[in-house]
Amino acid sequence: MDLNAIKAAELLHHRSKGLAKGDPVSLPIVPAATFHLPEVAGASHIYGRNGMSTWEAVEAQLAILEAAEVVSFPSGMAAISAALMAVLKQGDRLIVPADGYYVTRVFSAGFLAPFGVDVVEMATRDYATADFSGAAVVYLETPSNPGLDVVDIADVVARAHAVGALVIADNTTMTPLLQRPLDLGCDLVVAADTKAPAGHSDVLFGHVAGRDAALMARVRDWRRLSGAVPGPFEAWQVHRGLETLELRLERMCGSAAVIAERLQAVIGVSAVRYPWLAGDASEAVARRQMGSGGFLIGFQMADAARAERFLSECPYVVQSTSFGGTHSSGERRARWGDAVAEGFIRLSVGIEPVEVLWAAMAEALRD
Ligand SMILES: *Cc1c(COP(=O)(O)O)cnc(C)c1O
Repeated sequence: MDLNAIKAAELLHHRSKGLAKGDPVSLPIVPAATFHLPEVAGASHIYGRNGMSTWEAVEAQLAILEAAEVVSFPSGMAAISAALMAVLKQGDRLIVPADGYYVTRVFSAGFLAPFGVDVVEMATRDYATADFSGAAVVYLETPSNPGLDVVDIADVVARAHAVGALVIADNTTMTPLLQRPLDLGCDLVVAADTKAPAGHSDVLFGHVAGRDAALMARVRDWRRLSGAVPGPFEAWQVHRGLETLELRLERMCGSAAVIAERLQAVIGVSAVRYPWLAGDASEAVARRQMGSGGFLIGFQMADAARAERFLSECPYVVQSTSFGGTHSSGERRARWGDAVAEGFIRLSVGIEPVEVLWAAMAEALRD
């Protein structure tokens, strides 16, 4: 049987076995900073910064998907900075993607470099041939955001491990249902559950996953000592969102494949990037290591003005940054200074019925 199908069902029922007669079927929100503690030994909970049941329920869901230990965080960046702080020390070299999520680069340059970490930026496509000698950590993101270049994770891991480097993968664009970096040898996975996992554009959340107990203990210590802890209400929102992740991804990825194919034939649209598209530069690796082509599409229009006109005229593409929500969304990435053409749009395909969405897009794409 399909492993993802089993995980999706297990995720939905992860609390069922523990329910007593009369318990709520839905997850209770427990907003507690302190817990009854007549003595410390044997207490399930001590203090809200150390752990609380509402996040632990989300971690249990994510642990099913990752088949690994999971530590949750109040945002994707809180998870990413925790993973980096947990493994790096003064004098280490960190390789980060030049075309990956830009805040990771800004954090590395602004906070890790001043502490003596040698931060090296490298284009995702160059990871395929790079010599990682001298690196302590190779951090990768595939498909990269927003360019959607794909790199062979197992190959990067083999070459990084051969020279003694750890590998951290940002798996936000895929989620653990569509890509499993830990199975491919990565030491840690980081992700923004703000995106598809929570899925409704109403909460920030993140997690670190790993199978090395010592590394995960460092990550857990970082959370407790830095205080970057999720709130119980936010955790509850993510718990609810995760229950429909598999269902939403099926619609979103199916629609994205249809739309990417059709975009190629539209006059005025060029450079369509979708990892599973026939002829895409990433197709071979993407079909091998990804469970689907995902829900993100990159494409270009003639210039900034034409791209902005498409975004403002299409009623079913909301203009916002971020991706992975129930509604389709899009933006011109050059407005953030990404190294893409002025008319480049990153489209995140939502759960709208595809023919209705496509009809609206086709109308707004017409000259
Ligand atoms: C959004 C995003 C992040 C950061 O997540 P936040 O929850 O906004 O902190 C990290 N990596 C990638 C690839 C992202 O898209």
